[in-house]
Amino acid sequence: MRLTDIGEFGLIERIKANLGQVLPEGFTGIGDDCAIIPQREGMQTLVSTDMLVEGAHFILEDIGPYRLGWKSAAVNISDIAAMGGRPVASFLAVALPKGLDSAWTDEFMRGYKELSAGSGCLLLGGDTTSSLGPLCVCVTVLGECPVGVSVPRSGAKEGDNICVTGCLGDSGAGLRIILESLERDTVAEKLIERHYLPVPRVEEGLLLAATEGVHAMMDISDGIGSDLRHILKASGVGAEMDLAAFPLSEELCVCCSRYGWDPYELATGGGEEYELLFTASPSARISVPHYVIGKITAGSEVNWGGEKDYGGFHHF
Ligand code: ADP
Ligand code: MG
Repeated sequence: MRLTDIGEFGLIERIKANLGQVLPEGFTGIGDDCAIIPQREGMQTLVSTDMLVEGAHFILEDIGPYRLGWKSAAVNISDIAAMGGRPVASFLAVALPKGLDSAWTDEFMRGYKELSAGSGCLLLGGDTTSSLGPLCVCVTVLGECPVGVSVPRSGAKEGDNICVTGCLGDSGAGLRIILESLERDTVAEKLIERHYLPVPRVEEGLLLAATEGVHAMMDISDGIGSDLRHILKASGVGAEMDLAAFPLSEELCVCCSRYGWDPYELATGGGEEYELLFTASPSARISVPHYVIGKITAGSEVNWGGEKDYGGFHHF
C-alpha cells in the first residue's frame, strides 16, 4: 500500500501500533502535542540531534529500509553513549518521497525499534511529512545521567592514555566497497555490515563515566583523525599516536591487502565507526574492553609517528 493511500495520520497510527511500547509510569508518547517525560531528582537530561539525508549520508536503494532505520537510531543513541548517559527517549522526524510504500516504512521502523529497544530507548514522538526531494531522517534523542557524571570532550590531561573501545577502519572500508561497487564476498559483507549496522557503545559509556580517571570522551563519527582533534582543541593538549597499537580487524586487513589500501588511512579517516574514543589516566581502572592507541601530550600537535598526517572526514 502506498503512503499516499494511508496518509500522514494513517502512517503515524501504524508506527504507534507496530511499536507496541508499554510506557513507564508518568510518561506519555505519540498522540498528543507533546510527549511528557517525568523528571528524576539528581539527574541531568542530555539532548542531541542528528540528521541523515539521502545522497549525502546513504544510498537509499543500497542501504534499504531496515538498515536505515537501525542506523538512524544508532548514530543518535551513540551521542548519548559518548557522554556516558543512558538513552531515555527519541523523536523521529521523517521527510518521505510520495511514492514510498508502507512496507518500506514498516521495515524502517522494525530496524529503528530493534536498535532502540536494545538500549531501552522509547520512541515518544516525531514529525511526518512528504518530500519532493531526497528522503531525510532527523532524530532527536534524550538521555539522562546523574548530575556531574557526564564526560565532556574538554577534560583530557597531559599523560592520559588515548583509548578506543573497538576496531577502527571497518566502517570506512565498507563504505568504500559500496561506493566503488566492489565485490561483496563474506569479508566485504562484514565490513559493509559495520558501516550499515553500527552498535552504539551504551553500556561501555555508562561504565566509563562511572570510572575514576576517565577525563574526556566522544564517539567516532568522522574518523579519529578529525574527531581526536576535537578533544585536543577542547582540552588544550596534543597527542602522540601509536599506529602499531591500532585495533584492525582481520576483515579490514584482508580487504586492504586485496585492494592495496592503507589500513591506517581508513582507521583514521574512515568515520562512522561509533566506537568510543576516550582519554584516561594510566592509573584508571577501566573495566570495558579497550585499546590504548596513544598518549596525551602538552602543546597542541598530533604526532602520528610517521611521515603521514592522517586527516579525517569533513562534510564541506
Ligand atoms: P502536530 O500537529 O502537533 O505537529 P502531528 O500531527 O505532527 O502533531 O503528530 C501527531 C503525533 O504523532 C504527535 O504526538 C507526534 O509526536 C507523533 N508523530 C508524528 N510523526 C511521528 C513519527 N514519524 N514518529 C513518531 N511519532 C510521530
Ligand atoms: Mg507535526
